[in-house]
Amino acid sequence: MIKNEKAVVVFSGGQDSTTCLFWAKKTFKEVVAVTFHYGQRHEAEIDAAKDIAAELNVPHHILDMGLLGQLAPNALTRNDIAIEEREGQPPTTFVEGRNLLFLSFAAILGKQYDARHIVTGVCETDFSGYPDCRDSFVKSLNVTLNLSMDYEFVIHTPLMWLDKKETWALADDLGAFDYVREHTLTCYNGIKGAGCGECPACKLRQNGLDQYLAEKGGDVR
Ligand SMILES: [Zn+2]
Repeated sequence: MIKNEKAVVVFSGGQDSTTCLFWAKKTFKEVVAVTFHYGQRHEAEIDAAKDIAAELNVPHHILDMGLLGQLAPNALTRNDIAIEEREGQPPTTFVEGRNLLFLSFAAILGKQYDARHIVTGVCETDFSGYPDCRDSFVKSLNVTLNLSMDYEFVIHTPLMWLDKKETWALADDLGAFDYVREHTLTCYNGIKGAGCGECPACKLRQNGLDQYLAEKGGDVR
């Protein structure tokens, strides 16, 4: 428990980052959330993040990163690019450089708050082929950020080695299971909670939930 320090949580309003927000609230004395607006197809994502931060009483920054959508065309920001898996390369939902930029901006913001801790929900287990969700990338960036600002940041990745089932279990341990299930938005089609049920993000989320509920024992609601 690191009760005396401040943390910045990279927060999208989805299942993973909301679970991280609950984790951070329990771990740190003070928590700030930061959401990046980069021209996502669905404003619903930003709205979900705003609502959750307000409900959890967490100061919330929304930073405009529209440039990212212009630089790196991807299925999350462009309606004319289909969401699909691709053989031998990341899916079309991958945004080049996203975590590099998000974590760097979170660190710049964090330093202004005297926050040393940065929390992100990236995960290598279910990393969907996104290279910047890997532990080696995060550790490397942590060193670079510290050198760039002459500061001792610590990037925390509570979900790094969890699968989706274990992420649900963590939310449950944090007393946030129902909240995460109902209020977060993971769906690529912008539908809160259980989502559209069809897109890769919904399928991953639902599979993990089914596994967790089956393990927990018959609590299928
Ligand atoms: Zn969906």
